[in-house]
Amino acid sequence: MSRVEPKVELLSYTPEPEMTVAMAAKLCYSSSHISDLADTDSESQAKFIKRLMSMGHLSPIEHASFTFGIEGVSRSFLAQITRHRIASFSVQSQRYVGQSKEGGVMNYILPPSIEALGEEAVAEYEKQMETMSRWYAEWVEKLGGKSQSANEDARFVLPNACETRMVMTMNARELLHFLALRCCRRAQWEIREVAWQMLELVYPVAPSIFSKAGPGCVSKGCPEGKFTCGDPSWAREMLAGIKAKTDKTE
Ligand SMILES: Cc1cc2nc3c(=O)[nH]c(=O)nc-3n(C[C@H](O)[C@H](O)[C@H](O)COP(=O)(O)OP(=O)(O)OC[C@H]3O[C@@H](n4cnc5c(N)ncnc54)[C@H](O)[C@@H]3O)c2cc1C
Repeated sequence: MSRVEPKVELLSYTPEPEMTVAMAAKLCYSSSHISDLADTDSESQAKFIKRLMSMGHLSPIEHASFTFGIEGVSRSFLAQITRHRIASFSVQSQRYVGQSKEGGVMNYILPPSIEALGEEAVAEYEKQMETMSRWYAEWVEKLGGKSQSANEDARFVLPNACETRMVMTMNARELLHFLALRCCRRAQWEIREVAWQMLELVYPVAPSIFSKAGPGCVSKGCPEGKFTCGDPSWAREMLAGIKAKTDKTE
């Protein structure tokens, strides 16, 4: 059985992201030469970043980028995350990479709502995954056996539940925008889970940039109007939990 769950790793990021942002901000607001820009301590960096955020002057934040490895996510997640156009993506190919190893069951994601229905529902879902994996393997065979050309058409019988993996890069401005939309309770559970995992990874390396990251209700009122979940304390507690964990490890 090949059930998998969302997992995010922070693969790399701009060295000293807050120093880099502060240097860009310092250049905007002072007569500094380029050679003087690196001369900011962490307190001044935090001050510059706070000032930028409060003014909505967000272009200096674009100089810090973060690269994530994401796996254990569905093709339905892929459709949602790739709507974020300022991000860069490299996605595991369903043409070059076969989806069921040795005729076994493909890797798939089980929605928590189906899991909550109990063992019988989960068994039914697993059986459906097995059936679709079998259809896939049959089509690979009929289309000439394991190859790029067989994979690319056999995959048409695969479900949204099928696992995908990707490497994704966002700059901090896009990341803040992404986290505002996708950490919100209105976002679908899978992308929300990934968004919170991403925030947990970036907060320790750039705490000033991400100190108010997450849905609007973290720092102000909910921007969702009639779609509000009505519980801003939920997101505030999630962010406070991430901050507490970071403080404990420092
Ligand atoms: C709760 C929720 C429900 C959703 N439901 C649906 C749905 O039912 N159907 C659907 O199709 N989508 C849906 N979406 C996706 C949504 O419409 C956006 O495509 C997605 O959230 C990406 O947002 P974005 O365009 O702001 O982000 P990005 O593409 O990351 O862009 C970031 C920002 O850059 C600017 N920008 C980027 N490209 C342009 C451009 N071409 N022109 C002008 N400004 C630009 C905008 O200011 C934008 O906000 C949903 C999203 C959420 C969070």
